[in-house]
Amino acid sequence: MANVFELTELDGKIALLTFDAPGKKVNTFGQPVLAELTEIVTQLEAREDLQGLLLKSGKPGQFIAGADLTELGALMHATPEQLGESMKVGHALFSRISKLPFPTVALIDGNCMGGGTEITLSMDYRIAADTPKTKIGLPEVNVGIIPGWGGTQRLPRLIGLNPALDMICSGNPITGKRAAELGFAFDAVPPEHLIDEGRRLIAYARESDDWRKRRTELALPLGLSEDQLHFSQATAEGYIMGKTKGQYPAPIVAIRAIMKGANLPLDEALKVEQEASLEVVGSEISTNLIAIFFMNTRLARDPGVADTSIVPRDVNRVAVFGSGLMGAGIATSHARVGIRSLMLDVDDDRIADGMKRARKVVEGRIKIGRATYDDLANMLSCLDTSTDKSHVDDCDVVVEAITEREEVKTALYKELAGLMRDDAILASNTSTISITRMGKSAPHPERFVGMHFFFPVDRMQLVEVIRGDDTSDETIATIVALSKRIKKTPIVVGDCPGFLVNRVLLPYMNEALQLLLEGASMDAIDKAALKFGMPMGPIALQDVVGLDTSYYAGMTMVNAYSDRAILTPLLKDLVDAGRMGKKSGSGFRKYTGKKGKPEPDAEFTPFLEKNRVDNREISQEEITQRLFLPMFLESTRVLEENIVREPGDVDMGLILGIGFPAFRGGILRWADSVGADQILKDLEPYSQLGKRFEPTDMLKQLASSGKKIYE
Ligand code: NAD
Repeated sequence: MANVFELTELDGKIALLTFDAPGKKVNTFGQPVLAELTEIVTQLEAREDLQGLLLKSGKPGQFIAGADLTELGALMHATPEQLGESMKVGHALFSRISKLPFPTVALIDGNCMGGGTEITLSMDYRIAADTPKTKIGLPEVNVGIIPGWGGTQRLPRLIGLNPALDMICSGNPITGKRAAELGFAFDAVPPEHLIDEGRRLIAYARESDDWRKRRTELALPLGLSEDQLHFSQATAEGYIMGKTKGQYPAPIVAIRAIMKGANLPLDEALKVEQEASLEVVGSEISTNLIAIFFMNTRLARDPGVADTSIVPRDVNRVAVFGSGLMGAGIATSHARVGIRSLMLDVDDDRIADGMKRARKVVEGRIKIGRATYDDLANMLSCLDTSTDKSHVDDCDVVVEAITEREEVKTALYKELAGLMRDDAILASNTSTISITRMGKSAPHPERFVGMHFFFPVDRMQLVEVIRGDDTSDETIATIVALSKRIKKTPIVVGDCPGFLVNRVLLPYMNEALQLLLEGASMDAIDKAALKFGMPMGPIALQDVVGLDTSYYAGMTMVNAYSDRAILTPLLKDLVDAGRMGKKSGSGFRKYTGKKGKPEPDAEFTPFLEKNRVDNREISQEEITQRLFLPMFLESTRVLEENIVREPGDVDMGLILGIGFPAFRGGILRWADSVGADQILKDLEPYSQLGKRFEPTDMLKQLASSGKKIYE
C-alpha cells in the first residue's frame, strides 16, 4: 500500500482526505496510490452519515502533479489488453468518486495537472487558491496522450466545448482565478481560507440540494447541434494540423473523442474516451515525449559535475563583452531575472544598438501579453552599459561575446587579467574556437569556460557549457547554476571543434548542399527535412543563419575532420558575391519581396550551374537518408569520444539547439527506433561517398550485439 492518504473528520461530520506522498516533492497517481484510494473510496461509499468530503494536498503549493510518468512510459511494453486494463482502473475509481453519497469538494492549492485535474473533475465542486503558483491543466498532449480518466468528457460539460478544447489541445494550464471565471472552480480564495470555504460550500450544497442537480446536469449530453459540432471540430483540427503538421496525433485524437462524446450521456461518453486513449497510450511518440520529459528533469537537476560536494559560487554581477546580436541577448537574459549586468562594447553607437536590441526582447513579449512594462523597467534597471573595461572589477562572471576571431578574443583576455577580480570566472560564447587553447591566454585557465548560447538568445533554451582541459569543476558548476538561473537548459560538453550541436548539425547542412549539386531541387531538400519534422529545411536554414557564418563554420569542420567533412565551393562563391542569405536580401533564395518572404531567385542559377556535379533525379527517401544518417554517425562519434556524458545530452542538445523533432525523441532515439541493423543496410548504397557514410565502431557493435543506445 502506498500510505499517501490520511482520512480525518472535521466538526460537523465532514471528511477531510489529505494526499501527501511521503518524501516526495509532488503527489502523483501510480498503481499503489490508486489501490489505496480505491480502499478509501470503498469506506466512504458506506458512510451515508457524512455531510461531505474535502480533498486537499498535504504539500502547500503542490496539489497533484498527475499520473506517474514512469508507469506511463513503461506502458510502451504493455499488450493492448494490459493497456485497456490500466485505463479502466482510473476511470472506474473516478466514476465511483463522482457518485459518493454526499457533496464533494476539491481544494486546489498549487500545481494541479493531468490526473490531478481529472480527480477534481469527478468531484462536485472545486475551490482554487488565488496564488500565482496555482496552475490547473490537462497537459497530457505534451507527452503524446489524451486525458484518459474522464477529462475529455467532464471538462466540456463543466466549462463548455471551446474553452475545454483549448485547455486540452494546448496543454496550457490556467490560474485559479481564471478557473473561477471559466466556471471550473466555484471560487478562487487565499490558500489559508480553502478549508473554511470548502465547509461553507458543502453547507450551501446540502441546503440547496445543488450538488444533486449538478450531478444530473453534468451527466447529460451537451446537446450541441450538428453544425456547432462540425464547426468547432473543423476549426480545432485545422488549427492543430497547422501547428503540428499532423506529426503529433494526440491533440487530434483528443478533439475527436471530445466531439464523439459531446452528445452522449456521460457514461457512454467515458467509454468513447477509453477507446480513444488506447490509440495513443504506449505509442512510440508518447514514449519519446515521456523520455524527453525525463531527460529535461535530469538536466534540471544536473549540477554539471560528478562530484556532488562541489558548491557553485555566488553570482551577483555579470559583465558581457560585446553588445552585438549575441552579447545584447546574453546581457538581457541576466537582467531579466534580476541579475545586475554590465554590457560593454567599443563605442557608444554600438552600445546604443545593443540597448535597442535589449529593449526589443521585452517589448516583443509585451506585445504578445507575456511581459509587462514593469518587466521592461525592471530589466532596464538591472542593465548598465560602458565602454570602459575597468568597470568589470566587481563582476563575478565575465561573458565574452565579441567578434569570432581568436587573436581579438585572446587580446581582450590578456587585458582583462589586470582588470577582472582575481577570483572571477571568464566565459566565452565562441561558436568554433577551442576553449582549451584560448584558456591558455585567460587570466586563470581553471576559471575559463565556454558558455555557448544560441541565436536568438531570448528564445533558444540551450546553453552548451564547454569544459576545457584546465576548467575546474567549480567553474563548470557555477556556470551550470547561472544558466539555470537565467532559465536556460545547460548541457556540459567536452571541447572539440563545433562542440556538440554544431558538430552534429554541419554534416547535415553540408550534405544538403551536396544533394543540391547532384540534382535535387532546393524545395525537395527542404521538403524532406520538414517531412521528417525539422522546423525548417537545411537550405532555408543556411539563408537564415547567414552563408558567411555557415561557410566559416564549415571551414573549421573541414580543418578538424578532414577525413569526412565536406564544404562545397558553392558557399564561397555566394559569399564572395555578397549573397549572405536573408540578411543581405539574397542567398539560395531571394528575400526582397513583401515581408522578406523567401522566393526563388533566377540569379542563383549561374552559381549552381558552375558548381553542379550531376543532374539526376533524387528520391525523397535518398534525400532523407543522406541528411540524417551523417547526423547520426557524427552523434555516435561524439559518444565514442565522450564529448557528452550521456546519449540524452545529444538528443536534448539537438531538440533544444536546432529544433530536432521532439516526437522522434532525438537523433539517437530515432536511430534506436530504426534499428542498428537497418541503419547498416541503409548506409550501404552510399558507401562510395566515403568516410562520411562509413559505419562507426559504435554502430557496428550495436548491430552485432542487437543492443540499443537506450537500453
Ligand atoms: P556581432 O558582430 O553581432 O557582435 C560582436 C560585437 O563585439 C560588436 O558589437 C563589436 O563591436 C564587439 N566587440 C568587438 N571587439 C570588442 C572588444 N574588444 N571589446 C568589446 N566589444 C567588442 O557578433 P555576434 O553574432 O554577436 O557574435 C559574437 C560571438 O558569439 C562570436 O564569438 C560568435 O561566434 C558567437 N556566436 C554567434 C552566434 C550567432 O548566431 N550570431 C551564435 C552563437 C555564438
